[in-house]
Amino acid sequence: MKQNDQVKAVQACAAYARHAADIKALGNAIHEGLEGCRSKLRGDNGEKLTHLSKALRESVTEDETGEHRRLYDDEILKAIGRCSHCRAAFNAIKARKSARRSLGQVKRFIGVIGRRTA
Ligand SMILES: [Zn+2]
Repeated sequence: MKQNDQVKAVQACAAYARHAADIKALGNAIHEGLEGCRSKLRGDNGEKLTHLSKALRESVTEDETGEHRRLYDDEILKAIGRCSHCRAAFNAIKARKSARRSLGQVKRFIGVIGRRTA
């Protein structure tokens, strides 16, 4: 293995560890945010609904096409309103999605390094 490839391999391992740690921490942040929500909303089966879970269940009908769709991010934030816990949870969900994408890229890169070395 060329020295340059060795450096890249070690960097990929470090990035892998960093993204994996981020994903775990963001999972905790999501959990904490949802736990902190003081919503009194209830679902059809009497289960607690956070402002976020309610917003994620909502759908709207497009005027022009009549199509049903889920809310866009800005609409979700609007639906959440002032609950800082649900806002934090939603932001953490977005950040975790991004971190998962990054982790996927690193995994693919590690695969490339592995196949090149094998
Ligand atoms: Zn809330």
